[in-house]
Amino acid sequence: MDFDLSPEQKEIQALTRDFVRAEIEPHATEWDREHHFPREVYAKLAELGLMGTCVPEEYGGAGADFLAYMLVLEELSRGDAGVGVTVAVHTSAVTLPLLLFGTDEQRSRFVPPLARGELIGAFALTEAEAGSDAAALRTSATREDGGWRISGAKQFISTAEYAGTFLLFARTDPDTPGAGGISAFILDADQVRVTGREEKLGLNSSTTNSIAVDSLVDADRLLHDEGKGFHVAMATLDGGRIGIAAQAVGITQAAYDVAREYAKERHAFGQPIAKFQAIQFKLADMATEIEAARLLVHRAAWLKQNDLPHTETGAKAKLFASEMARRQTGEAIQILGGYGYTKEFPVERYYRDAKITEIYEGTSEIQRLVIARSVLGLAERAVSAS
Ligand SMILES: Cc1cc2nc3c(=O)[nH]c(=O)nc-3n(C[C@H](O)[C@H](O)[C@H](O)COP(=O)(O)OP(=O)(O)OC[C@H]3O[C@@H](n4cnc5c(N)ncnc54)[C@H](O)[C@@H]3O)c2cc1C
Repeated sequence: MDFDLSPEQKEIQALTRDFVRAEIEPHATEWDREHHFPREVYAKLAELGLMGTCVPEEYGGAGADFLAYMLVLEELSRGDAGVGVTVAVHTSAVTLPLLLFGTDEQRSRFVPPLARGELIGAFALTEAEAGSDAAALRTSATREDGGWRISGAKQFISTAEYAGTFLLFARTDPDTPGAGGISAFILDADQVRVTGREEKLGLNSSTTNSIAVDSLVDADRLLHDEGKGFHVAMATLDGGRIGIAAQAVGITQAAYDVAREYAKERHAFGQPIAKFQAIQFKLADMATEIEAARLLVHRAAWLKQNDLPHTETGAKAKLFASEMARRQTGEAIQILGGYGYTKEFPVERYYRDAKITEIYEGTSEIQRLVIARSVLGLAERAVSAS
């Protein structure tokens, strides 16, 4: 067993950290306040190869492994969780499934522009009445003129208004309810209409959109076999969740860094508050839980990159890391006292941003269902868990 990162992983981690310090951290508070999507950052990340960290070089990526990509997501989210989720969805939920399930032609046509960051990806599964129960989706795809007529509406779609490529799920067989009648499609931006943008608690530098579709797409836009879309979605989320866990670790690390320094500087009752055991224990718990969550992320990433089953470990990583992030960013506010509740320090933003990690790519309740099914040996998924 080797817990050390490889020289390449360390290099990518350091590269991302330097970039985040220079290009993201100084602006994150303003982006949050202004609800600004920092489009220019993605062009710069693309120059560094970080829009396709774990995509093979022959497809325009940096050719690193999945763990290196998790280190990138942790560091980006440490600077700005909105940037973290934009890169996570783009890579885990769009580029990687196209690479995994695409034909040779689809791979060489759609993956390089994504991996090189020329286009941003969006993952369109959720609908008004199909969230955790994603298999209830109603967007339809019917055969027309040798292609597919796709009609319907989706909601909560990250980055839709800036995306060039959509991985979208629609029901191709209206007579097969649930998972069996769903297929996956690759759409361009001009085949999708953005109909709204959510006002959110946090993650304000990312966009979360509703979209509508009524487009005729060519037959070659079907990804994987007809009726296999739900399998594509679930396999995608199995990997995507590890990235959300890495995001949660990054947010909490940022909160911990601020809280630790503050505790050393702030005086009460004639001494730094870091001298009080109550504060020391909070910092000790934070450091311990961050490390535990990070180890779960690394273990799940290692399983995935070695093509080993990672559904259960990925769900555990997301469950633990996201609940840890909500809890410990709250404790960071507590350590800062009144200032923690103000906009003068970024911990209130970390607290708001942390909450979403318990919701998207499967809520904590859904992660518990996934884990319970796995440990009980119940193979079939009762719930779909978007
Ligand atoms: C900021 C943001 C970004 C998002 N980005 C995307 C995206 O890019 N693409 C995309 O497709 N979706 C995206 N989503 C959607 C997200 O994945 C869903 O919101 C999430 O899966 C939960 O679905 P829901 O909101 O419909 O909640 P519901 O499914 O209505 O759940 C409501 C509550 O009921 C619980 N619940 C539901 N079923 C069960 C059950 N069987 N057992 C126990 N409890 C249950 C849930 O855990 C939750 O607590 C995003 C959402 C947000 C807020």
